[in-house]
Amino acid sequence: MIFYFSSTGNSKEAAEKIAAANGDTLTDIGRAMKFGEMTYELKAGEDLGIVTPVYYGGIPDIVYEFLKKVNLKGQGTDRYVYHVVTCGSVTGGANSMVMSALSQNFGLTISATYAIKTVDNYLPLFDCSDKEANQKRLASAEKEMDQVAAQVAAKDLGEHNYYRGAWALLWPVEQFVYEYARSTNKFHVTDACISCGLCANNCPCNAIAMNSGKPAWVKDKCTLCLGCVHRCPAHAIQFGKSEKARAKAFAHGQYQNPNTKPVEY
Ligand code: SF4
Ligand code: SF4
Repeated sequence: MIFYFSSTGNSKEAAEKIAAANGDTLTDIGRAMKFGEMTYELKAGEDLGIVTPVYYGGIPDIVYEFLKKVNLKGQGTDRYVYHVVTCGSVTGGANSMVMSALSQNFGLTISATYAIKTVDNYLPLFDCSDKEANQKRLASAEKEMDQVAAQVAAKDLGEHNYYRGAWALLWPVEQFVYEYARSTNKFHVTDACISCGLCANNCPCNAIAMNSGKPAWVKDKCTLCLGCVHRCPAHAIQFGKSEKARAKAFAHGQYQNPNTKPVEY
């Protein structure tokens, strides 16, 4: 069984490739959390994979919450457990967070860790507007995905995460900043909105409600996946504290991994 979380498809593509190579099943953590689907049963000896992006040196809050709340039956300890992180540059403490959640909540230890470098789409910092550059990065990411899929099939053990980075030890600080950054008061909708409702339907945190045909953020915090920004068909959602910050992130464009279907709930 593979649990994955994905906003723009990078982790989804990785999870799909691993599942295809191993005849495994996929569960979308975003869907599970959105609809409260929280009970899963592992067969004896079945592999358990977690595939996530890295957010602020750690895992997305929604993944951490899921790992705390999920009712995982048939746990046992005799199984291959692995964590795959997709990142734009470094993975920080993402592995550590998953290890600690699995160990504390289910007594499971991680057998192997992997990392895949792909397109960084955190718009406040990274520019996704260069399609050619994205394509290049994706081509190299796909090779890494295939390699990880083969290593999972071979049940390789140990650390295969080569992107931990010098920042690894600073991840608690980054996660502290994440707590502040994931405030929804930085979202802004422009007049380009066509009232399609997709942003509200596809928010994994149910943080958006439609109000008189326009999105309104109804929770103080969300997981900051930026899916609403990337997927809006009118590019009408902006993110940033100031107008200048919003304009900069807006100029960085929108991104969707072209090798998998967009996340839809
Ligand atoms: S997805 Fe974009 S266009 Fe559709 S309702 Fe949301 S903001 Fe408006
Ligand atoms: S509000 Fe937007 S960024 Fe936040 S969780 Fe929902 S889709 Fe993701």
